[in-house]
Order: sequence, then structure tokens, then C-alpha cells
Amino acid sequence: MTDAVSFCANNSIPYKTNLKTKTISTFRIGGTAPLVVYPKDTEQVSVLIKFFNENEYRYKTVGNCSNILFSDEILDCILIKTDGLSLLKVENNNIVSGAGNILSKVASTAMKNHLSGMEKLFGIPGSVGGAVIMNAGAYGAEMSQIVEQTEYVDSEGNTHIVRGEEHCFGYRKSCFTETDVVTKTTLKLNPGTYRDIREEMNAVKNKRVTTQPLDLPSAGSVFKRPEGHFAGKLIEDCGLKGISVGGAQVSTKHAGFIVNTGNATASDVKELIHLIQSEVFEKFGVMLETEIRII
Ligand SMILES: Cc1cc2nc3c(=O)[nH]c(=O)nc-3n(C[C@H](O)[C@H](O)[C@H](O)COP(=O)(O)OP(=O)(O)OC[C@H]3O[C@@H](n4cnc5c(N)ncnc54)[C@H](O)[C@@H]3O)c2cc1C
Repeated sequence: MTDAVSFCANNSIPYKTNLKTKTISTFRIGGTAPLVVYPKDTEQVSVLIKFFNENEYRYKTVGNCSNILFSDEILDCILIKTDGLSLLKVENNNIVSGAGNILSKVASTAMKNHLSGMEKLFGIPGSVGGAVIMNAGAYGAEMSQIVEQTEYVDSEGNTHIVRGEEHCFGYRKSCFTETDVVTKTTLKLNPGTYRDIREEMNAVKNKRVTTQPLDLPSAGSVFKRPEGHFAGKLIEDCGLKGISVGGAQVSTKHAGFIVNTGNATASDVKELIHLIQSEVFEKFGVMLETEIRII
């Protein structure tokens, strides 16, 4: 991988080698990423992907790693981390944001500019790119309601723009493939009142603090909501709240979360996930599907 390191150095693309992935994941779990690259703009994403293709390197894009369980091993791919895609500008009622900005920062910018539409999304600890990919949502709101257009770079290094329905948003999913890199999104918001927006954001923040185990590392809800049920309720009704495998525990505050109580490994989390899935299936005939992505 030394040629990839030289390529980054020669093209002024920031990078880190042998990064412990637990240091970048909200779960605080992981192994080692041999190379993490931090492109500063769409052009750098494009040249990186072309270089990776020419040299047959596999890559994976990550944002704030708040929905990811990194393996305990050495990753067999290069990570493209989007922190450097940090453009943020307000254009009339729209906000144009680079993929790397954290959602709450963009929501705060919306509030300061008296723009409404992001209140319920405030507090989701993802980047804009990750939130578009996942169609992140909370309390009845989701990204699909405000995303107007998205720029991305495909697996050949070519840049495209998708608009409106072309995003094919669904429950925690969108049109993008594993190898697309979302670089920029335009959010369509509505004029609002600063005080009302702030009050709603505060209410949402308080709700999260009361209902979620924010004092311990996690990746949020581990499972997607199965139709007609709530994953957390099914898990709780199986008597699994609080059970542990190694350092991974079903949160005692919200059974839909698995928390890292200290030294959890990815293997602990995977074992706990399988245990939950089989118990819930046995008792309720519902197969829980994971929302978190495993790298
Ligand atoms: C405490 C807590 C609370 C949470 N609450 C919620 C909630 O209320 N609602 C909700 O929907 N989620 C919630 N989450 C989960 C998570 O924050 C969201 O899924 C978020 O959208 C993930 O964004 P991210 O930048 O962290 O993405 P990552 O975790 O870095 O990546 C998630 C997926 O998106 C891909 N990806 C990320 N960025 C890009 C990009 N720019 N281009 C291409 N692919 C990309 C990754 O490859 C991966 O497949 C919560 C998580 C935590 C820890």
C-alpha cells in the first residue's frame, strides 16, 4: 500500500496509516485500518477512486462512523473518510452541505438562519453523507423529506447529481451503491421562527437524553424496525434487556441499543446480535434485520 500513501502525499490528500478504527467509531470497537484518506473536495474523491481502480485497491466510504461496527481485524480495504468535505452554505431557503458535516452542525446553521425542517433530525450523530445513504430519521422526520439533490462520485470516479425521487429513498435506504461516494447535498428547508426551531430542537435533545443510553458507546439502534413491531419492545419482551456477551450489553435503558460497557469486541457484538435474533425469532417468529453496517 506504499504506492497509495505516496499517491496521497503527491496529490496533497490528507491520510493516516495504521489507524485504530475504535478511535473513529461511536461504538469504540475495531481493529486497524491500514490507510484512511481524507479527501478535501469532490475532485480529490474522483482522483482517489480512479487510482484505487487502476491499482485494484478496495475502498469503503465512512462518515462519522455512528452506524458502523468495525471488525476486530486489520481491514482489507482503504477507508475514505469524508470529514474534509465540509462545504456549508445557505442559499435562500436551501442549505448546501458537504457530505462530511455532522447533521447537528447543519441543523444549528439552519436554526441560526431561521430555516425549519431539520429540528427532529437534531441529535442524530451522523454526517450528512451517512444520513443521506441511510435515509436517517427520527420522531417522524427523515432525510427524504428535505433532500433536494445530491452529488456523488461513482465507482469509475465519475461525478453525478441525483434529484428528488431519483434518490429512491426508503426505510433506512437510498439509491446509492456500496461503491458510490456521496460528496454534497442540497437540503430544501422552509422559513421558520428562530424561537420555535430552538424549542423543538431542545425538546428532541431532551427526549434523546431521557430515552437513549448516550453515556455509553454504541451505534444507535442495532436493528431495523420490523413491520408492525418495535425491535426494542420485542427484545425486552424476550427478557433480554441487560444481557451481555463479553463487553457488549443490551442496553438497560433502551433494548434496541447494544452498548460497549468497556472492552467489547466486534465478535462480542456479533454473538449478541445472533443471540437476540434467534431468541426473538423463536418467541415471536420475527427475524430482526440489522441496521448497523459491518465493515
Ligand atoms: C447514539 C446514537 C443515536 C442514533 N440515533 C439515530 C436516529 O435517531 N435515527 C437514525 O436514522 N440513525 C440514528 N443513529 C445511527 C446513525 O447516526 C445514522 O445512521 C447516521 O445517518 C450515520 O451517519 P454516519 O456519517 O455516522 O455514517 P457511517 O456510520 O460512517 O456510515 C453508515 C453507512 O453509510 C455509508 N456512508 C457514510 N458516508 C458516506 C458517503 N459520504 N458516501 C457513501 N457512503 C457513505 C457507510 O459506508 C455505511 O454503509 C444513531 C447512532 C447513535 C450512535
